[in-house]
Amino acid sequence: MRFSYKILFCSIFIMAVSFGVGGYVFVGDVFQASLEREMGQAKDESSILQFAFETAALNIPSKYDMLQNSVIEEIGANLEKGGQGRLLRLLDERGVVLYASEGFYPDTALLDCIRPNTRAWRVISQDGHYYIQTGTLVTTLDRILYLETMRDITAVYAERTRGFLVYRNMTLLILIFSSVVMYFLSSWLTKPIRLLTQATKKMTAGDYGYRAREISFDEMGQLTHDFNHMAGVLEENIHKLQEEIRAREDFIAAFSHELKTPLTAVIGYADLLRSRKLDEEKHLLSANYIYTEGKRLEAMSLRLLDIIVTKRTAIERQEEKVESLFAYLKEVYGEEKDLLIVFCYQPGIVWVEADLLKSVLINLIDNACKASKSEDTVEVIGEKTEEGYLFSVKDHGVGIPAEECKKITEAFYMVDKSRARSLNGAGLGLALCVEILKLHGSELRIESIEGEGSCFSFLLTDKEAEADGEKKECTTGSSFGGGGLLLSDGPRTNRTL
Ligand code: ADP
Repeated sequence: MRFSYKILFCSIFIMAVSFGVGGYVFVGDVFQASLEREMGQAKDESSILQFAFETAALNIPSKYDMLQNSVIEEIGANLEKGGQGRLLRLLDERGVVLYASEGFYPDTALLDCIRPNTRAWRVISQDGHYYIQTGTLVTTLDRILYLETMRDITAVYAERTRGFLVYRNMTLLILIFSSVVMYFLSSWLTKPIRLLTQATKKMTAGDYGYRAREISFDEMGQLTHDFNHMAGVLEENIHKLQEEIRAREDFIAAFSHELKTPLTAVIGYADLLRSRKLDEEKHLLSANYIYTEGKRLEAMSLRLLDIIVTKRTAIERQEEKVESLFAYLKEVYGEEKDLLIVFCYQPGIVWVEADLLKSVLINLIDNACKASKSEDTVEVIGEKTEEGYLFSVKDHGVGIPAEECKKITEAFYMVDKSRARSLNGAGLGLALCVEILKLHGSELRIESIEGEGSCFSFLLTDKEAEADGEKKECTTGSSFGGGGLLLSDGPRTNRTL
């Protein structure tokens, strides 16, 4: 059953019960008051008749000591005539009727309740009429008589019946009118619920962008607002999950492709070696292919392992001097001959896991070297900023097309696949960098202009990075940041990339 109908029926039920009980109590109370008023008047009448009977009995000249039955009958008849519609009955000591008005209630049970100096009464019904019957003792001239009266109170009962009727009709009218009003009111009140239900159905059917209309500013409005907010968050999460699934599928596809290429070469050359006797030069060439492709596979699997391990491990960060990081980099690239690698940095302390950070920097410098021509310069810069310590690796090489910039951090993505493979790349280096930086609460920023060069940078925001004072020094001229930077030339690289 619809919620609005429940509200409607509940309110109708409550109203019907309240009107019913209220009406019953009200009409009953009015009836009781009228009945008591009638009762008082019946008792008064009984007293008056008792007094009148005693007076009449005393005033009758008597030949006898005792009041005769015929005299009693006569007095009774006179008393009855004295009032319009008056009904009375006189009985002797043994309960024998001496006089009774016409139509007087025949039953004499009330006599048992009459005691001296008290007045008994009861309500009786006869021929569709209601009466108050009273009874009292009359003691006069050595006679003890019973005097009974009957007062017609049918009008009081009729009034009660009419009261109930009027009240019932009024209640019905009010109920019909209020039902119509309540119907519209309850559907208006429950409209936000219907809109929410509609939104839930739409969303269940896959329309995650659907939102419930906000039509009120009360608790229901708040609920709708919260629901929409929750739906927004859910939609975002669903998109994220879908993205993740897509990325995983892409990863698997790329991974199988990357595996297939070297494996095809390895299998092909191995087959050649085992199926035919080759001359020494071809034999060496084939063996070399198998070796280099095998090495590529090995490097790829190690990189993948690095990424997986990085994703799953919690890192142990320590304070690390930027100077020692740069000293390490200079040592690594110390033998390079072809490229000029310029190291330029401000002293400072970073809060990192040193080995992982070195891995990031080496990956970025390697990529910059791969993208550069011989005689080009690669700049590795470390500078303090207000937010933390900023590392940048700049090159003036091939650059990256704008539309590729977002994709190059995906695993196995390479802008120029043949060039990357010839340089022993597998498209995993930047993916590893991104994971490591994530663990350090940082992210990789890429700025690049195709044909002009690229700049890869990341910011380590830890407060610890601001430790080592502001002393700046520059050992050679530089195009980066001007005075105050420690700058040192790296040797030209002849590294096999
Ligand atoms: P790999 O270097 O092993 O191929 P990476 O994930 O490190 O894999 O890089 C992905 C791709 O991004 C590279 O193949 C290359 O095409 C491009 N790339 C990375 N760094 C640079 C750079 N400094 N200049 C131009 N292209 C770059």
